[in-house]
Amino acid sequence: MFIGHLPAGYIVTRQAMRGRPQADAAAGRLLALGVVASVLPDFDLVYFYLIDNRQTLHHHYWTHLPAFWAAVAVPTLAIAALLRRPAALLAWLVFHANVFLHLVLDTVVGHVLWLYPFSADSVVLFDVPARHGWWVWNFVLHWTFLFELLLCGGALALFLKSRSREAAVEI
Ligand SMILES: [Zn+2]
Repeated sequence: MFIGHLPAGYIVTRQAMRGRPQADAAAGRLLALGVVASVLPDFDLVYFYLIDNRQTLHHHYWTHLPAFWAAVAVPTLAIAALLRRPAALLAWLVFHANVFLHLVLDTVVGHVLWLYPFSADSVVLFDVPARHGWWVWNFVLHWTFLFELLLCGGALALFLKSRSREAAVEI
């Protein structure tokens, strides 16, 4: 997935925040946490391009392993529960929902190792054929890219709706 992660993260985080009154600063921090988490696994592209010299599919790095994030989720959930603060649990939920959403969205046309460490077989919903010279066109011109555009449109509509609601409150 190319451009869909950030808008998907925005949509999911806004939904998680619905009906939970928060101070503006806290809501802003939660939204920032959600959108950063929505693209966090792709931070491995820095390693992929600058250090690994594109030798390994970046979906095979630990940053894209569901097992790694599950191993992070369990103890951090315990810590959040021990803190007995609803804000900590909400932050945990927003962070992990966005990370796992990233992995699910990557599975649409990218190979993700959902079964690792039990199996090295990757999972992908749709294989994108190599029809164009520049690999990016293969994905952008594939029908699944409409799904990414839909996510962008949905996030934009949600953003504009929240802005108009805030403007109405100020009046
Ligand atoms: Zn990714």
